[in-house]
Amino acid sequence: MSDILLEAHQVTQYYGDGKDKILVLQDVSLDIRRDEVIAILGPSGSGKSTLLRIMAGLLNASQGEVRFQGQVQCGCNPHVAIVFQTFALFPWLTVYQNVELGLLNKTEPPADRRRRIIEAIDVIGLDGFEEAYPKELSGGMRQRVGFARALVVEPMILFMDEPFSALDVLTAENLKKELLSLWRNKKIPTQAILMVTHNIAEAVTMGDRIIVMGHNPGVVRIDMPGLPVEQREKDHAEHVRLVDYLYGVMTHPQDAALAFTSQLPAVRPSRAPSRAYQVLPHVAVGAMTGLIEHLHASGDRVDIPVLGEDLHMEVDDLLPLLQAIDMLGLGDIESGDAYLTPLGIEYAGADIQGRKQIFSRQARTIIQLIRQILTGLEAQRKVRWDDLRDSLEGCFSQNEAERQLDTAIAWGRYAELFAYDDEEGAFYLETPEAAI
Ligand code: ADP
Ligand code: MG
Repeated sequence: MSDILLEAHQVTQYYGDGKDKILVLQDVSLDIRRDEVIAILGPSGSGKSTLLRIMAGLLNASQGEVRFQGQVQCGCNPHVAIVFQTFALFPWLTVYQNVELGLLNKTEPPADRRRRIIEAIDVIGLDGFEEAYPKELSGGMRQRVGFARALVVEPMILFMDEPFSALDVLTAENLKKELLSLWRNKKIPTQAILMVTHNIAEAVTMGDRIIVMGHNPGVVRIDMPGLPVEQREKDHAEHVRLVDYLYGVMTHPQDAALAFTSQLPAVRPSRAPSRAYQVLPHVAVGAMTGLIEHLHASGDRVDIPVLGEDLHMEVDDLLPLLQAIDMLGLGDIESGDAYLTPLGIEYAGADIQGRKQIFSRQARTIIQLIRQILTGLEAQRKVRWDDLRDSLEGCFSQNEAERQLDTAIAWGRYAELFAYDDEEGAFYLETPEAAI
């Protein structure tokens, strides 16, 4: 019997149609094998949840197919259960009744059914809470109900979509440990787990295999084996090294990722853009400046997980900021640390005008889209937003093209590189000197 339980084969997914059509997943292939936990990382919007829904049969892919044990799957797969980030409990039902919902389309004698529900409630640590209502439970206990509802169907494959991210850190750690122990000690009949997370350390701790997705459009950038179980603890050197490596990969979304086994500390940026435009991270200059100031105040170099804790920021929010300062040559990533370049340090120490000058010089030399606007303004008095959007659409969906333009407008305005007339939808030179 093949070890592959479920397999996405060259799955492509579009949402919307006509002008609004966006390409969310492109040619994604992923197989889920028996006895493995797969952890999927990727920026938000890279299609992780969409991929889960397609693989669970809740959504039909625009192209490609999903095979369950070798057979093309159509419709919802009864052997897959999903735990969502938000607990999705019904407030008017008790814990018992909420868990029972997982079984609604099963026909079996009531006694068996009751036994199964009680078992699922027990195994996930909710014993004694059968008659409680969700509002009487803490967040962690509610998510346990979510797990029990998924486990009660004894799914062959368990999907989890950021199951711990709505919980506080300690509760999440605790629940994670318990779940891993149920899995490793085969207390649940589940044969494979596919988990989406935005927490890199969580992926390293839990993943027998680690997938990193990229976005615009969603693709699989990395599909690599996780660490041997004995190296998964947070303080193990290999854990730290792999976390650092993955931070490097995720903060350099446009570079081909080097293999972890090549003894390099992290991904080295190739700097050769493979497309006409960079993908601008959608962050405000004020937030970038805040990050640079914080880095400077912390000695110009900080371990990224520590940075996240210091700033109370999730990776999802931190990564775009790091990408932005990297793109602008103000900071970079090395061995899991974020650090300021000499120019970044100069920026941190400068006054408002000095900062504007540095930012403006970097933006107009590095950012392709801003360069294009300025080159256009050398040749003609104004550059139309629509024309730029059309040219961006070769690289981005319409939606993303518009967001790219909005970001370029915000950055360019801050740097006083150009003015933008919202009503007319056109760029003008701010002052004749600005483009020099
Ligand atoms: P992730 O889980 O990685 O954050 P999602 O799969 O939720 O990504 O979404 C990927 C992209 O598809 C996003 O740009 C999102 O806005 C878009 N999207 C998701 N669901 C729908 C939908 N039902 N209709 C239109 N667009 C959608
Ligand atoms: Mg999602």
